[in-house]
Amino acid sequence: MVTATFRFYEELNDFLSAERRRQEFSVPCAEAATTKHMIEALGVPHTEVELILVNDESVGFDHRLREGDRVAVYPKFEALDVTPLLRVREQPLRTPRFVADAHLGALARLLRIAGFDTLYDNRYQDREIADIAGRDDRIVLTRDRELLKLRSITHGCYVHAVKPTQQFMEIIDRLDLARSARPFSLCLVCNAPLRSIEKAAVLERLPASVRDQQERFTRCDVCHRVFWEGSHWRRMQALLTESLHADTSAQVVSQ
Ligand SMILES: [Zn+2]
Repeated sequence: MVTATFRFYEELNDFLSAERRRQEFSVPCAEAATTKHMIEALGVPHTEVELILVNDESVGFDHRLREGDRVAVYPKFEALDVTPLLRVREQPLRTPRFVADAHLGALARLLRIAGFDTLYDNRYQDREIADIAGRDDRIVLTRDRELLKLRSITHGCYVHAVKPTQQFMEIIDRLDLARSARPFSLCLVCNAPLRSIEKAAVLERLPASVRDQQERFTRCDVCHRVFWEGSHWRRMQALLTESLHADTSAQVVSQ
């Protein structure tokens, strides 16, 4: 056995037992244990980790620990304060795609309403989620830290919030997505593209109040549901505006 000292930063502390949060602590490690093994043995999924420093040098998940090593572990997008740098970009670098686990159906619908391609099925098994993530380059969304420990999952977000709206805001803020949202471009039921459709073509299917007040309509290619800029639309716009506003204040603070 060897003994190494660990310190976890920011929200990674949520995964630790209370007496280990926000401070250094020493733990015995098996001879030649890797950083990945020890970090996960302490309760932190490897997908949540952005940067590991051992004795002030950046190392990978396969680094083998030695007697007296001092290990600092930083979360995604918080490492060395990169968040303000990401947030000041005019355009995000890419638009991520997601696969949500079986407990996050409401979050999946909100992400689809915002235009983010999100696969979800409440019958998904862990192995299937990992396969989909690897095959399609999708980010796994889950509140199950055991799922994120699967070696085949390279990109995952542990969702801390419990309520769907807060979960949505957590993902939007963490991945800096507010500017890449395309509300009502995807069907919230099928995750399939929505296409503009003439009002005349859907007139007889509309409730009277919608017929009077709305002019722009889209329809899902798969389920043929028709959508318009109603209350869901307004709520989504409000959430995205709130996130952009939070971004602006973060920039001010970082300057
Ligand atoms: Zn549909």
